[in-house]
Amino acid sequence: MRTAAVIGGGIGGLSAAIGLRQAGWEVAVFERAPRFAEVGAGITLWPNALRALESLGLDLAPLAVPQVSGRLRDHHGRLLTEVDGARFERALGKPLLGIARAQLLDLLREAIPAADLRAGTTVTAVTGDGRVCWDGGELSADLVVAADGVHSAVRSALWPGHPGPVHTGHTAFRAILDDPGPLELSGLLGPGTEVGMVPLTGGRLYWYLACESPGGVRPADPKAFLRRHFGGWPEPLPSLIEATPGERFLQHDLLALRTPLPTYVRGRVALLGDAAHAMSPYLGQGGCQAIEDAVVLAAATVRHASVDDALRVYDRERRPRSQAIARRSDQAGRLGAQLKNPLAVAARNAVLRLMPAGLSVRAATAAARWSPPDR
Ligand SMILES: Cc1cc2nc3c(=O)[nH]c(=O)nc-3n(C[C@H](O)[C@H](O)[C@H](O)COP(=O)(O)OP(=O)(O)OC[C@H]3O[C@@H](n4cnc5c(N)ncnc54)[C@H](O)[C@@H]3O)c2cc1C
Repeated sequence: MRTAAVIGGGIGGLSAAIGLRQAGWEVAVFERAPRFAEVGAGITLWPNALRALESLGLDLAPLAVPQVSGRLRDHHGRLLTEVDGARFERALGKPLLGIARAQLLDLLREAIPAADLRAGTTVTAVTGDGRVCWDGGELSADLVVAADGVHSAVRSALWPGHPGPVHTGHTAFRAILDDPGPLELSGLLGPGTEVGMVPLTGGRLYWYLACESPGGVRPADPKAFLRRHFGGWPEPLPSLIEATPGERFLQHDLLALRTPLPTYVRGRVALLGDAAHAMSPYLGQGGCQAIEDAVVLAAATVRHASVDDALRVYDRERRPRSQAIARRSDQAGRLGAQLKNPLAVAARNAVLRLMPAGLSVRAATAAARWSPPDR
């Protein structure tokens, strides 16, 4: 049986492991964290990712909430546009879903035999011919999937000339509230700042705030920081800040691979997910693209017996699309949430108010029309 080593047990690595197992590979997944887990935030998944997960035999519906409708307002509370979930669903054949990351990770992990999962194992070296080393062991694999995230050590080692990720100048605070009261999918857009609220199952709410910040700055008390800067914004933001226990806030700087990689493949090693194309989150597509990568890679290994051929096809099918979406995501941020100049903000808001619903749905859903390849 052909053997694959997957480095990283996030959304991308676990999806790849499921797809490769189904394609007949013997798989070992290495995750440096002591448990395959994710805490504290949610994620929205577009129909392209839902179709990819479906092709892996996974049904998110019982764990996720379709984002039916909502409103985007400016930081004075004035309506910018209505989000019509039913229209999205009609256009795409599936809804946009909101899910707690922990539940998504559990669903993926449960589809892989425990024996294939090696938690608490940090991979320390990988070579293009498929050798994978960790503290206390090594193996040789026919295929290595490097799904080790935005700070990928595999990318640094095998693509030494690549400058790596850059800070976008923004940081994101995220939290899940257990009992926020009835709230719909909604958002606020202010100068250099975006706030989003995403209902989850069990009456919970995932909310996030992305704002301008120098890289590496961590307020000691995120709640006090958010209260100080955003406490005067329209409801429900001040209430959400107050209702969120301080220890629930996650903060991550927003990073992106702005220099596109010339290839996702070195020898038997394929980069996948954020390791290959970490992108700003303004289209909500980073995780969706990781899942697409996984499904395309697995399908390529079914269609092509030779690993070289399969990886060539993977690179050809995934690189242009994922890099184009990363570029569009940056652009969406620059023309949207990151705008600060008052005139530019006013112009953007006017465009949002005037844009016909059909056009804004088409713009927002372009990336989500993708379907997985036949195996
Ligand atoms: C604020 C924010 C909001 C977002 N919202 C969305 C959204 O709504 N929808 C969406 O689709 N995407 C969203 N994204 C993007 C999405 O979170 C990422 O694209 C996705 O999680 C990438 O998954 P991954 O598996 O490639 O990488 P990761 O999730 O980073 O997983 C990498 C894994 O590799 C492990 N690892 C690293 N190095 C090693 C090593 N040497 N040995 C062993 N293990 C190792 C890490 O511990 C980690 O578990 C958002 C991102 C941010 C920052």
